[in-house]
Amino acid sequence: MKEITPEQRQKALDILIHPSDSKLITHLNACVHCGLCETSCLFWKTFKEPKYIPGKKVDMVSSIYRRYCTFLGKTVPKLNHAREMDENTLTEMIDSLFGACTMCGRCVKHCSIGVDIPFVVRTGRRMLATMGLVPETLQATVDAAINTGNNMGIPTEDFVDTIEWMEEDEEVPIPLNKEDADVLYTLNPREPKFFPLSIAAAAKIFQQAEVNWTLSTEMYDVTNYGYFSGNDAEATAIAKHMFDEVHKLHCNTLVLGECGHGSRALRWEAPNYLKTHPDFKIITLIEMLENFIKSGRIKVDKNLNTKKYTIHDPCNIVRNGGLYNSLRYVVRQVVPELVEMDPNGSDNFCCGGGGGMLAMSEYNERRLKVGEIKANQIKATGATVVITPCHNCVDQLTQINHTYNLNVEIKSLAEVVADALVVE
Ligand code: SF4
Ligand code: SF4
Repeated sequence: MKEITPEQRQKALDILIHPSDSKLITHLNACVHCGLCETSCLFWKTFKEPKYIPGKKVDMVSSIYRRYCTFLGKTVPKLNHAREMDENTLTEMIDSLFGACTMCGRCVKHCSIGVDIPFVVRTGRRMLATMGLVPETLQATVDAAINTGNNMGIPTEDFVDTIEWMEEDEEVPIPLNKEDADVLYTLNPREPKFFPLSIAAAAKIFQQAEVNWTLSTEMYDVTNYGYFSGNDAEATAIAKHMFDEVHKLHCNTLVLGECGHGSRALRWEAPNYLKTHPDFKIITLIEMLENFIKSGRIKVDKNLNTKKYTIHDPCNIVRNGGLYNSLRYVVRQVVPELVEMDPNGSDNFCCGGGGGMLAMSEYNERRLKVGEIKANQIKATGATVVITPCHNCVDQLTQINHTYNLNVEIKSLAEVVADALVVE
């Protein structure tokens, strides 16, 4: 492990010693160690090791809190299960908080007293980030976003080439850097890199709905891995870049493309990072599609899609984003047969790709192993197509599909809606 300076160590402890509000102290003191959260976690269900119990992840942080912030922890640490923040503790923290939690929030629903477990996990990640202990792979993703404007470091000329290729092949206009457009649309960089047809799909829908829209070549990335790394300054810089781009192009609505954590970070976390409310509208593509269909701005025919479909609910869109009804409404308008996973909606299992896991290749084996829960859920539906409005989920589901021989297609919501479009 890299050397930690006394200043870094103190700054990390200050996150616990001088919290900015009472929420942290409440949640650090709330766990009653009942263990009811145990079976809610995909890591515990897969590996059945105590360290994967959500309450244990909370205890990683709260045991340090007790050691440095409570009288009993300072005087009789062993009796109070209070831990020194030494090298062993930090090594375990990295493994548990970065490598064994997708911050999916399923455990919160099952906690007997509502401990906000991902919030405590992110607090631990903030402490590790302060000490420069974010896994290098995840940090590289954040660095790429800050240095190049997108987390995959795609050069602008490659992005423009991909857009022009889609315009030509799919015969649909995709405006770039258009000033005074109503809508600035955003993408997960996995789209131009691996799934460019989803960009063309969104463009076809916008064309039918006659939306005055644009993409920015400088800042199209909806993701914010600073949210996952725990570095608030970097999360703020990424969010600010997007807000500045909306202002630069004089757009009045920011439409969040298909990305769960990106939607959460830009819509709900960014105003906290930036300490200001946006002076433009922020909406997800899902809500926009719901609105287009309900208002008749686009016409869809579900019989243009002919397979058996299921939905994977991205944690930050449905459980933590409240868009269950909007997503179900849109999907039911565009597919003839929908079979739900069990469980689904706000109790759905994470696919295993969240929390920055897809960026941290050192945990690939663990990530694919926990994905078996999702693989079994998909198998049980008998569906041949899995729809999910998040490109991180698309990526993880694609790998699960291959690993567990599911033989299904993975599609974004825009693709399924575009396939059902009645073109007039
Ligand atoms: S947030 Fe998700 S991955 Fe993390 S402990 Fe809770 S259930 Fe497990
Ligand atoms: S269910 Fe809640 S209170 Fe019980 S062990 Fe888990 S986190 Fe702690």
